[in-house]
Amino acid sequence: MAISPYRLSSRQYLMTAMRSLWSATAAPGPSLEQLAGDVRAQVTIIGAGYTGLSAALYLAGAGSDVVVLEAVDVGDRASGLNGGQVIPGVKHDPDTLEETFGPTTGGRLVDTVASGPDLVFELIRKYDIACAATRTGWIQPATSGSALEAIAGRVEQWRRRGADVELLSGPETARLTGSQRYSGGWIDRRGGTVQPLSYVRGLARAAANLGARIFSRSPATGLERTGSEWRIRTPRGSVTSSTVILATDAYTDRLVDPLRRTLIPVPSFQVATEPIPEKLRQTILPGGQSASDTWHLLRYFRLDATGRLIMGSRGTFADVPLTVAARHHYRAVREIYPQLAGIQYEYHWGGLVGMTRDHLPHLHEVAPGLLTGLGYNGRGVAMATVMGRILAHWARGAPAAELGFPVTSLAPIPLHRFNQIGARLAIQGLRALDGLARVRDRFLAVGSAP
Ligand SMILES: Cc1cc2nc3c(=O)[nH]c(=O)nc-3n(C[C@H](O)[C@H](O)[C@H](O)COP(=O)(O)OP(=O)(O)OC[C@H]3O[C@@H](n4cnc5c(N)ncnc54)[C@H](O)[C@@H]3O)c2cc1C
Repeated sequence: MAISPYRLSSRQYLMTAMRSLWSATAAPGPSLEQLAGDVRAQVTIIGAGYTGLSAALYLAGAGSDVVVLEAVDVGDRASGLNGGQVIPGVKHDPDTLEETFGPTTGGRLVDTVASGPDLVFELIRKYDIACAATRTGWIQPATSGSALEAIAGRVEQWRRRGADVELLSGPETARLTGSQRYSGGWIDRRGGTVQPLSYVRGLARAAANLGARIFSRSPATGLERTGSEWRIRTPRGSVTSSTVILATDAYTDRLVDPLRRTLIPVPSFQVATEPIPEKLRQTILPGGQSASDTWHLLRYFRLDATGRLIMGSRGTFADVPLTVAARHHYRAVREIYPQLAGIQYEYHWGGLVGMTRDHLPHLHEVAPGLLTGLGYNGRGVAMATVMGRILAHWARGAPAAELGFPVTSLAPIPLHRFNQIGARLAIQGLRALDGLARVRDRFLAVGSAP
C-alpha cells in the first residue's frame, strides 16, 4: 500500500520532507509489541487511529477483552497527520440531515455529530491527555458572497438547536483571522484544536491502561470466518474473536475489498512555517481559533503551540517533488497572510482523506460480527472519536436502532478503480470553479482579494 503520494526531490527537502510537525513535537506514545503467536479476544479492532482507539477505550472501559492490530504504529496515518482542527458536525447542514433521514433518525444524527467536540475535550480531560488542546472555536471564513449566504443559513440552523455559533461580519472576520482576504464568516465556539498525534497517542495510552492489548507492526493480512468466530491473521500470529471492528478509513486495503471500494482516498497536504516572530504572530488568529475556508478546494490553517502557521489544502495524486506539492500552499499563505512574506517553511507532510460519495461518514455491518465506521470526509478528529464510541456500543450488543447513527448497507462505488481518475478530474473542475469565483469576486469586489 502506498504510504505517501509524494517523493523527495532535492537535498533541501531531504531535511524536512514528510516529517510532520506533529511527529517532531508529539508526546511519546506507549511502547508496543508486534503480535507474535495465536491469541483470543472478545473484540478485535483493526487500525489504531481515532476510530479504533476510541472504540478500544470504550470497550476496555466496559470490561470487554480487546485486541487492536495496527499495520504500522499508533497515529502513523491520518490520525497523527491531520490539521488537528476539532470541527463540530459533518459536511451537511443539520436541516439537510433531518430532511435526508427524517425527523427522528435525522434529529438523533444531528445530536450525534454535534456531540463530537464535547467528547474529544472530555476524553482529553478525563484521561489527562497532554495534546496542547484549546477550545477557542473554529472559524469558517467565506471566500465569496454565495458562500456567505450559505453560512448565514448554517448559523441560523445551528442557533435554532442551541449551539454557540455566530455570524461574523467582514471586519470581525478580519480581526479574528488576521486576514483581509475574507468577506465574512462564522465562528463555532464548540470547536478547537489539538496536537493530533499527541491526542491519538493519549487515546492509545488510556485504552492500554484499561486493559486493551495494542499491537503495532501487525497488519491484518487475512480474515476468515470459522463457525461463529473470525480469525485474523498477521505476519507472525493470529487473533480469534466473535466481533471485529474495521477502523481503517482512507487506508482500507484489500483485506475487505468491497469496503475499500466504498471510499475514494484523496491526498491532503500541509506545510508549517518556522515559529513566527512574536509581534507578527499577534496579527494571525490572535484568539487561537482554527479556520477552514469555503473554497471548493478549501484551505485550512491554524497556529500550533509554538506559533508556527500550519497551512493545509489539497494534495496531488501525482508522484511529484515536494516543491511542486507545496506550491499551492505557499501561494495560499502569501494570499491570506501577506505579512508573512519571507517566512521559512520547516515541515511538509501529507496524508489521505477518506471521501464518500454522499460526503457522509458510514456505519456498516459488513458481515455478521464484522463492523465498521469510516468516511469522515476531512472531519474525523471529532467524528472518528464519536464513531469509535458508537462501534463500541454496537459491539457490546446495543441494537442498531439505538446507535444514534444510521446503519447502511455497503455500497461499493461502481467502476471504483476509475474513480481515482474521476477524483483527479473533479479536483481540476473544482480548481476551475474556484478560479472563476476568484475572478468574479475581484470583479464584484467581494472581500479584498490581493
Ligand atoms: C492531511 C489531513 C488533514 C486533516 N485535517 C483534519 C482536521 O483538521 N480536522 C478533522 O476533523 N479531520 C481532519 N482530517 C481527517 C482525519 O484525520 C481522519 O478522518 C481521521 O484521522 C480518521 O481516523 P481513523 O482512525 O478512522 O483512520 P486513520 O487514522 O487513518 O487510522 C486507520 C489505521 O488503520 C491502519 N490499517 C489499515 N489497514 C490495516 C490493516 N490491514 N491491518 C492493520 N492496520 C491497518 C492504518 O495503518 C491506520 O493507522 C485530515 C486528514 C488528513 C489526511
